[in-house]
Amino acid sequence: MVRDWSTFLLAIFVALAAIGLARPALAQGTEQAFAPGSTCHVAAAPDETFAMLAARPDRWTCTADDWPASAERVAMRFDLRGRAAGTPAPDHLKMARLHFERMEVIAIAADGTTATSTLGRGDLLPGRSLLEAAVAIPGQDADPVAVALIVEQSPSAARLLFAEPVTGAPMQPVAGLDQLLAALLCGLLLAPMFFDLGFYRTLRATFPLYHAAFCALAVVQTATFSGLLLLLTDLSLATQRGISILSFDFMVAASSLFILSFVERGVFARWHRRLLVAMAGFSASLGVFAVFALPLLGTITVTIYYTGYVIYLAALAVILARALRRQSRAIRWVILGHLPLLLVGMTNVIIGLFAQEGRVFDSYWAQNLALGFEVIVTSFAVADRFMILKRERDLALSEARVLEQLTEHDALTGLLNRRAIETRFDILRAQGFTTLAVIDLDHFKQVNDRHGHTVGDQVLKSVAKALKPTGDNSLAFRMGGEEFVLLLRGENAMERAETRRVAISHCLDETSPLTEGITASMGIIEAPHDSLADASFEALYARADLLLYEAKAAGRNRTMAERLKVFRPRRRAERRAAA
Ligand code: GH3
Ligand code: MG
Ligand code: MG
Repeated sequence: MVRDWSTFLLAIFVALAAIGLARPALAQGTEQAFAPGSTCHVAAAPDETFAMLAARPDRWTCTADDWPASAERVAMRFDLRGRAAGTPAPDHLKMARLHFERMEVIAIAADGTTATSTLGRGDLLPGRSLLEAAVAIPGQDADPVAVALIVEQSPSAARLLFAEPVTGAPMQPVAGLDQLLAALLCGLLLAPMFFDLGFYRTLRATFPLYHAAFCALAVVQTATFSGLLLLLTDLSLATQRGISILSFDFMVAASSLFILSFVERGVFARWHRRLLVAMAGFSASLGVFAVFALPLLGTITVTIYYTGYVIYLAALAVILARALRRQSRAIRWVILGHLPLLLVGMTNVIIGLFAQEGRVFDSYWAQNLALGFEVIVTSFAVADRFMILKRERDLALSEARVLEQLTEHDALTGLLNRRAIETRFDILRAQGFTTLAVIDLDHFKQVNDRHGHTVGDQVLKSVAKALKPTGDNSLAFRMGGEEFVLLLRGENAMERAETRRVAISHCLDETSPLTEGITASMGIIEAPHDSLADASFEALYARADLLLYEAKAAGRNRTMAERLKVFRPRRRAERRAAA
């Protein structure tokens, strides 16, 4: 028992002595063990302070290798000595943006005294681009010889290997080559939007709109990602991160809807189309989730987010495979365009999920270039599809026109037919065609009887030629049999119609076997606007037909005309003007 107590007391004594010895040794040990300008790291137990770790220089690794496999808590030490004489001491540590739960920043002076600041999630300062961040080295009287970090629960703490002590606070956004190239890329991404809007105006198909949305979000994404937004605004890092995440996930959503509307009809079954809509909703929700859950759930958010994208990519694979099997031309463009971005995305997902330490994949320019490539390729694809659809549409339109020609024209004479006048009469009348003449050949039955039907047809063709309009003030229709209608507008409409009727008598050429000649009778009515309560085609036609009947009854080869005239009481103003 006594022996136990003595061992216990001895242990306490040794421990106190060790701490006592370690204290003054800390400064010296630190200075001697760590080379000037070195960057060292060590996996730390939950209760180990920096002083305890610094007392054990043998545990530290000062190369970029051997990053602790799965440290919950990592300490890093950046040695600030060895810089050129006269250069001011660094006051910030510039680093890649990373997630963590808690971070201690410890400035160590030459005499071993330390100053510590503690950061929580979201306390990082913005860097020169969204991928960069910074922490301030806590202020102290003497220039620090080293700065140390203790980072807790960071899946990407290895990025700190590339951290760099810098001078100048706060970090000012700077327009560098990256930002210049990003600005150029933004311009490149904007251009197709205008074509898209033009295509939409012509086709009224939705895929150019989704493509335009995709381009717009790609611009936001690039501007945020590259730090351009930082140059133009002073949004907080959290806001910019939010914009960056949302623009990316909504861009993915736009791309899903683009595929849905872009791929040819019949390629996807109903459930594929539903899947694409669900995918769009899913990626947008992932973005919203990531933005709002990160402050609440911490790094688990990252895992959920990337797992979500694994599911998304699997669904996309199903969609692409289906379209490829169905020989879709459009999907080949989509795949070609998406390929680089998919590779970058998959690398990000794999690194996000598995490579929690060690090498960091700097996807910055890879993503920018992949996005630019995607926009260019899909723009070509949109133009290609536009041309195909336009050609199809034009073809359908000209077919419709041919069909219309067929249905509205008389096959024998080439004149417009009854259907044509019936469907257009109101419009034509509104355009001023207020004179209607019905012309019927006299004793035409005899022509057929004497010379045969073929000759009769020839005569009808010659008559049609005589009636065919020369200008745009008359229209000729064959109503059926040997009956024709003329519609006229403008000056002397009745006289011009009469000239036409008389011309029928001279329309036969020398080759015609007809010796007896041919005549026609005409009933004509001129009904100006407001002259009839019922000015429908049927009403006017019936009146003109009645006049024709009278012309026939009166001996044929003549015209009966009716001119409606409206006498309206003049208004006082008009009377005064006339006076
Ligand atoms: P009316 O002076 O009273 O009009 O005498 P009509 O013989 O012209 O009168 P009717 O309406 O009785 O005869 C019309 C004839 O037109 C009957 C038919 O043989 C002929 N006909 C109708 N359509 C065609 C056609 O497409 N080709 C030919 N060759 N004849 C036709
Ligand atoms: Mg007749
Ligand atoms: Mg007739």
